[in-house]
Amino acid sequence: MDPMRLFSFLLVISWSVNIIDASLGDADPNYRRCISQCQETGCIGPKCFPPCTFSSDGELVGRPWYTQEPLYLQWKKWDCQSDCRYHCMLDREKEKELLNIGPVKYHGKWPFKRIYGMQEPASVAFSALNLAMHFHGWVSFFILLYYKLPLKDGKKAYYEYAGLWHFYALLSLNSWFWSAVFHSRDVDLTEKLDYSSAVVLLGYSLILSILRSFNVRDEATRVMVSAPLIAFVVTHAMYLNFYKLDYGWNMIICVAMAVTQLTIWAVWAGFSHHPSRWKLWLVVIAGGLAMLLEIYDFPPYEGLLDAHALWHATTIPLTYIWWSFIRDDAKFRTTKFLNKAK
Ligand SMILES: [Zn+2]
Repeated sequence: MDPMRLFSFLLVISWSVNIIDASLGDADPNYRRCISQCQETGCIGPKCFPPCTFSSDGELVGRPWYTQEPLYLQWKKWDCQSDCRYHCMLDREKEKELLNIGPVKYHGKWPFKRIYGMQEPASVAFSALNLAMHFHGWVSFFILLYYKLPLKDGKKAYYEYAGLWHFYALLSLNSWFWSAVFHSRDVDLTEKLDYSSAVVLLGYSLILSILRSFNVRDEATRVMVSAPLIAFVVTHAMYLNFYKLDYGWNMIICVAMAVTQLTIWAVWAGFSHHPSRWKLWLVVIAGGLAMLLEIYDFPPYEGLLDAHALWHATTIPLTYIWWSFIRDDAKFRTTKFLNKAK
């Protein structure tokens, strides 16, 4: 992709993200009325929950600031607020359905049906399956390296990128774990953990793609190549966590890192004559197409399956192919090394 096209692509993404931020649903006066009534009385029609007014007993007034809002109260506030938002949204969507009006977003999210208290059950399930797939891939990579392929001095793998892939596996497991948590319960903390883990994983994968495709085996060069990227990713993660969680900006950074990484793998696959290069191409093309799901966002089918969940679903088979490429690469490099040594 040439720079101009990449730029316009990123512009379209940031534009669509801005639209997502200003949700139509929570601007609706009927919805707002329902929320304020629910937070005060704790009831929407016949359904009742604990109301959101806790400090009215006067017990907390006059205490130092750091004891005024204990964590459990914050949690209760989140609870009642999210219950009110959820049931007001369902009621509003039901009313609109009778008038044949399609769904709109509320607070940046489509109206999802909860299952066992999980906000986006399909995304939770697919995140868990991604996690399982990475675990399976990592275990099979481990078995191949240490039990099937020959070892240097009987203990160390010949494959020079083994350590880098082990760390990649850990970051992937971490990222999918927080993705599952975030999609079950969206609060400030879980959101930041999910976003930061994804940013760190993407940044690390980019470094890995550069090290592998340029065949960087020397430790000092590896450090030199990764240092600026690590500094950049850490700065970006700190910006998101401590300054501003800017969705549009974060999306641009993440897509830019993902597109660069996919381009590096695709170009390398073309030049390197790697025996498993078709797997790389498959992951790059399918991964690129899957990214379109993130951009052409559509409302959830039956309140469950939306574009984002489908996007998480597509990465499950891709993860399988990806780890199979990594295993092939380990076999390929080990045989090459042993043949040279003969
Ligand atoms: Zn997600």
